[in-house]
Amino acid sequence: MPEQVNCQKEDSVTQSDLNESYEEEVRAFLSDEEKLHLFDDLTKVNPVTTTTVLKCLQARYNVNLFYTNAGCSLVALNPFQPISCLYSPELMREYHVAVRPQDLKPHIYTVAEEAYRNVQSQMDPMNQSIIVSGESGAGKTWTSRCLMKFYASVAASVTSSKGNEAVERIEKRVLDSNPIMEAFGNACTLRNNNSSRFGKYIQLHLDRFHHLSSASIQTFLLEKTRVAYQAPSERNFHIFYQITKGATAEERQEWNLPEGADYRWLPNSERNLEEDCFEVTRDAMLHLGIDCSTQNNIFKVLSGLLHLGNVQFSNPLDESQPCELEDEAKDSVKTAGDLLKIPVEMLLESLRIRTITAGKQQQVFKKPCSRTECDTRRDCLAKLIYAKLFEWLVLVINESIYADTSLWTSFIGLLDVYGFEAFPENNLEQLCINYANEKLQQHFVAHYLKAQQEEYASEGLQWSFINYQDNQSCLDLIEGSPLSIFSLLNEECRLNRSSNPDLFQTRIEKALSDNQCLSRDKFSKKPNFIVSHYAGKVCYQLAAMVEKNKSSLENLMHILNSTKPHYIRCIKPNADCKAMTFRKEEVLSQLQACGIVEAITISAAGFPIRISFQSFTDRYEILRKSHRSSKKSTCDENNDNTAKKKEETAAVDDSKASRSVVVEILENVTGQTATE
Ligand code: ATP
Ligand code: MG
Repeated sequence: MPEQVNCQKEDSVTQSDLNESYEEEVRAFLSDEEKLHLFDDLTKVNPVTTTTVLKCLQARYNVNLFYTNAGCSLVALNPFQPISCLYSPELMREYHVAVRPQDLKPHIYTVAEEAYRNVQSQMDPMNQSIIVSGESGAGKTWTSRCLMKFYASVAASVTSSKGNEAVERIEKRVLDSNPIMEAFGNACTLRNNNSSRFGKYIQLHLDRFHHLSSASIQTFLLEKTRVAYQAPSERNFHIFYQITKGATAEERQEWNLPEGADYRWLPNSERNLEEDCFEVTRDAMLHLGIDCSTQNNIFKVLSGLLHLGNVQFSNPLDESQPCELEDEAKDSVKTAGDLLKIPVEMLLESLRIRTITAGKQQQVFKKPCSRTECDTRRDCLAKLIYAKLFEWLVLVINESIYADTSLWTSFIGLLDVYGFEAFPENNLEQLCINYANEKLQQHFVAHYLKAQQEEYASEGLQWSFINYQDNQSCLDLIEGSPLSIFSLLNEECRLNRSSNPDLFQTRIEKALSDNQCLSRDKFSKKPNFIVSHYAGKVCYQLAAMVEKNKSSLENLMHILNSTKPHYIRCIKPNADCKAMTFRKEEVLSQLQACGIVEAITISAAGFPIRISFQSFTDRYEILRKSHRSSKKSTCDENNDNTAKKKEETAAVDDSKASRSVVVEILENVTGQTATE
């Protein structure tokens, strides 16, 4: 029985409850150094409340203990400073060889090792997923990278799967995919200097000897808008700064990137970040088989996009004529055309002229675009080219790391998606990101909060139901059928209706007024709608929303549902990314948002190990009294037993019969009478 730490107090807490008495209690906790070791697992805290959980996390954080078990999840506090030895090869090995890694200090390596052992399990082998979640800057990508390094080390293949000396070993290639993906998909934002602007699910494939033999990457929701628009104080994707800062003199000439030139789409380039290192990206590309000449072409395209961003239009004197080019833009459009390999006339026509097909005869009309339309078309072209380039890169990386399915038998998937977002202005990107988080929360709710309680109930165990927030109605609002925000958006796009945000707002409100998760900011002059997400309310602006597309998560959810999930909840102890700073209000809102306290409560009250009935009897049948006595019986009796067993097998689904078998086995092992 684990020792229970009693930290009595209230059941739920609001920001305002965190007052001086809280500070005193924390101090009292901290004064008893010995107790800290008892908090390795938050399910040991009694009672489990938001306050007690918060206190334990703070107490641990103050003594540099950043990982804490929380039932089915691991809570990972971001230290915002390198902690020596926390990820050393020696430590990896210690967790890998431990008889019971769960008895060591909580760590992401415990989760990693458990997943690794589960895929190898003789009893219940199953593909595994580690779902890393948390808000921006909480440490998801860092954690995913550490997990990849763990597997690259403990599951290192004996030989390169491609059997070719010229090709880097699979582990190295898998790790090298990180700097490439981050250079093209990460950017400096207000909340994180290295913020992932896309979601990533990487599958690490293991062969029958449980060695890493292949991998594949699936990406989603790339924030392509960033190519053409960066919020104040934010930056474009790292790769643009890498090429402008790291190109050699010859490359500058070839890519048309003179030193000190200004690009509208390259704000805040005076800030020098660790992530600006071009050499690392280039080396990684080489290791993955992207040769220098292909790289050269990629960087030309990127430079072309920077020049495209400098193409500015002005209104023509005669409205029937296309928009004029600003003087400086004449060179830019030419350079962009050269670098993107688009004839300048064609480029200008596509930016300035709209083609309309109409009438029974399908007549084609050409109409000059307004200045705003020209700007939109330029931005769309850039976003499209960048998204295609990113897609192509993922394809090439996959070609380099993926091996035929005959070479692997199981996989461990690592999911790193960007967290829930709520800005003063939110649009389709935020809706898609928050929708992805909503889906993952639903996965957590379904796989853990719901499933576990339903299972206890179906097995007739005494259980008082623990309430949790079910986010189904929010998902119905966003993606439901036949009517939802997405279905209405799709209809707007399909019918090619000129986007009138006011009309669209009315349509949404009329169609979805029954859903309690929908509301509106009545004080805002801009058309909008508010969605009450599990993590909080977000107000979305409708302007231009219909012009964008919906990205799909169905495939990912399908894969996740076929695996055993493990959850790592990354928590950001403060918004300033400072070391040794634990702001309880900020941690509290993150704990409340992810339903972790409910999960801890269920785990604390529930059973630590769950094995399917079939696997249990397959393994322990031999310990049954009836099994033993059958060994002594005659052949006839054996036949009787076979018949009896058949009956029992038929009754496997009957939970009462299953339970009695389990109880019989347990009684036999412990010699005590077990109560059902
Ligand atoms: P986003 O959603 O914006 O992509 P994220 O959750 O992926 O955010 P990371 O980029 O992983 O956040 O982490 C942000 C920063 O926090 C890292 O660049 C690093 O400086 C620091 N960090 C995260 N985890 C750790 C750790 N375990 N040890 C030391 N520093 C860390
Ligand atoms: Mg990230």
